[in-house]
Amino acid sequence: MSIQMVRQGGYSRPAFFCDRCGKVINDLADAVFLWDPPIPDPNDCVYPTKLVHCGECDSGIQACSLELVTGLVYLLYAAGYLDTAARPTPKWKEAVRRVALLSQL
Ligand SMILES: [Zn+2]
Repeated sequence: MSIQMVRQGGYSRPAFFCDRCGKVINDLADAVFLWDPPIPDPNDCVYPTKLVHCGECDSGIQACSLELVTGLVYLLYAAGYLDTAARPTPKWKEAVRRVALLSQL
């Protein structure tokens, strides 16, 4: 998965890039994680994963996929930024406050 910093309008921000075509992923609903679990599939394993645009870039051989947006919710929950009902936690509110300070949201 490719995350790089992009500078636009005087601010730098992280952005996702497609592992297939190399272009920025502007619409998070237009991208998926792809991976091929080994057979047999062990319980404790790390899979090499690609992040690609939906459509032309996601056609291939990977057996499993997960929408980027869904994956981000998993990550935020696992890191303690969302509670079990997917509500923002104090960690989330602090992160939003820091972003606002950096980018004048
Ligand atoms: Zn692409």
